[in-house]
Amino acid sequence: MDVLAHNYAPLPVTIARADGVWFTATDGRRYLDCLAAYSAVNFGHRHPDLVAAARAQLDRVTLTSRAFDNDQLGPFAEELTDLTGTQMMLPMNTGAEAVETAIKLARAWGERVKGVAPGRGQIVTVTGNFHGRTTTIVSFSDDPAARDGFGPFTPGFRQVPYGDATALAGAVDAETVAVLLEPVQGEAGVIIPPAGYLAQARHITAAAGALLIVDEIQSGLGRTGATLESARQGVQPDLICLGKALGGGIMPVSAVVGSAEVLGVLRPGEHGSTFGGNPLGAAIGRAVVRLLRTGQPQRAARERGAQLRAALDPLVGHGVTAIRHVGLWFGLDIDPALGSGRDVCLRLMDGGVLAKDTHGQTVRLAPPLTITPDEIESVAAAFDQAVRG
Ligand SMILES: *Cc1c(COP(=O)(O)O)cnc(C)c1O
Repeated sequence: MDVLAHNYAPLPVTIARADGVWFTATDGRRYLDCLAAYSAVNFGHRHPDLVAAARAQLDRVTLTSRAFDNDQLGPFAEELTDLTGTQMMLPMNTGAEAVETAIKLARAWGERVKGVAPGRGQIVTVTGNFHGRTTTIVSFSDDPAARDGFGPFTPGFRQVPYGDATALAGAVDAETVAVLLEPVQGEAGVIIPPAGYLAQARHITAAAGALLIVDEIQSGLGRTGATLESARQGVQPDLICLGKALGGGIMPVSAVVGSAEVLGVLRPGEHGSTFGGNPLGAAIGRAVVRLLRTGQPQRAARERGAQLRAALDPLVGHGVTAIRHVGLWFGLDIDPALGSGRDVCLRLMDGGVLAKDTHGQTVRLAPPLTITPDEIESVAAAFDQAVRG
């Protein structure tokens, strides 16, 4: 494997196929997928509706570039803005590109609408954030692993502690064009801010004439039990970044959705992507919107999440020091006496469950939302076995 760069340290398992919530490894062993590709596979592996949409589109047209229009992108924009209660969308591919797009939109809006002097606009970010891996995005990360060695960094960002509305209010001034945050921090370990924090951020930004940008790349599209976590909390951001599950686990599809006042600042030629808005991704995205319109994945996240919480709660004090969850999205802090998060993930793997540690002591559980009640019980039993032995 020496020809593969070492930017990941995967668990020692090689997947050969996947069906629904199940992986099959090259040695024939089956594992229950409790990562769902960081929530890109919210609807399960190879969901029949999504695969059918992709297959049908493969036989028609897959890529036109935005030099020409295609017959999937317009309907996708209509359907996605309708689903999210927004006015406009801009399609990209990866999550990081959606965040970069939101940053560029906020800066251009700052100059052209708010009247901030050119090159002066500031964006307030928060500790523990994860928004992707580009040089600009890691410029406002506080994770040494994401940052060290990659400078010089992009200026124009300020950071305040996550969950602290007073600090946020104190950091916003006349040159602030936006506040950028995740409604729940996924990579940080499913960190849930104090109740009302997002609404306070909305209030602070509105009062200061700054934008609220919410990164729902991991929290959005069903995971927390709602189409959007921000909407579940009664908050309407100016811009929302979507990605991961928007591509149905089939290909990268991302988007920024939000107000026409902000998305409307871009003029032809100022921003784009060769693959962004491609008809194959748009056709898959339309099928994802159809799934979410039923409300079924969101309901499953709430019901299976409550079930898993009840099954895991007895482990607190027995190898698990804390559990956080929203919808079907869990962060479990492992007692250091027992080992690291990765040690527990290796034991889970022996028990037929694939999960991922984050930040040393936390294990995240985020299976596809299609998991059955029986499979939830199996996950809880495997976790019990992994921490109690
Ligand atoms: C995964 C993630 C991103 C980056 O998405 P990529 O597709 O990996 O570039 C950005 N923000 C959040 C909250 C994420 O979870």
